[in-house]
Amino acid sequence: VVRIRGLHKSFGKLHVLKNIDLDVYESDVLVLCGPSGAGKSTLLRCINMLEHYHEGTIEVLGKDIKSSRANLSYVRKNSGMVFQHFNLFPHISVMDNVALAPIHVKKMPKDQAYEKAKSLLDQVGLSAKYDAYPGQLSGGQKQRVAIARALAMDPKLMLFDEPTSALDPEMIKEVLDVMIKLALGGMTMIIVSHEMGFAREVANKVGFLDDGKIIELTPKNEFFTNPRSERTKEFLSKIL
Ligand code: ATP
Ligand code: MG
Repeated sequence: VVRIRGLHKSFGKLHVLKNIDLDVYESDVLVLCGPSGAGKSTLLRCINMLEHYHEGTIEVLGKDIKSSRANLSYVRKNSGMVFQHFNLFPHISVMDNVALAPIHVKKMPKDQAYEKAKSLLDQVGLSAKYDAYPGQLSGGQKQRVAIARALAMDPKLMLFDEPTSALDPEMIKEVLDVMIKLALGGMTMIIVSHEMGFAREVANKVGFLDDGKIIELTPKNEFFTNPRSERTKEFLSKIL
């Protein structure tokens, strides 16, 4: 689903991603962790070209995202991204937030889009909040709306950038539970997160990014029990 080869990305003189190779297959749940500034967000943002990259190739859903606008737009339509800070539209209701893209991007008839929005909001446990505005919701509820909104486009790939790190502990679980359900349903997901309990439960692969390089990318069990590099061991010893 994602194939990255020789990816380099710099911000001015700052070389942020250094020769990244990465393969993500259908129904993979890859959790990426690593210290602040390692380049995790930048890597995710390159995957749907929210950041331009300088060198290397990224293929998503079989399309080289840099080679044509049509490819990029296909990839954006068929992948969903969820950010740390929700990024909901504040001036419209929860339902409208979820129905907006299907109506405008997919040209779905309105009544159908709202039916779909309802069913997605039910799935993430927000049946009571159809008409609420984002400002009236807790952080965990907002994040679940953000997930429902991404799912409304029927994505084949979901990207999550620290979806729970802005949340209070009680709310983390309700968001992770939604993500666990998605994973069990076979969704292909790349998740930047330091929730190692979650990684243990649902990831099939765990990656460790440090200083712009993927230091380790291993099946989950190996990652926790037998990390290959000293750097990973050191990092794990701090966060577990
Ligand atoms: P965190 O865990 O803190 O979110 P991260 O691994 O996601 O960190 P990135 O946000 O990818 O790290 O940033 C990697 C490096 O790139 C950092 O040194 C950061 O300062 C720099 N950087 C990120 N975005 C920009 C930008 N738009 N302009 C300039 N430098 C940037
Ligand atoms: Mg980040």
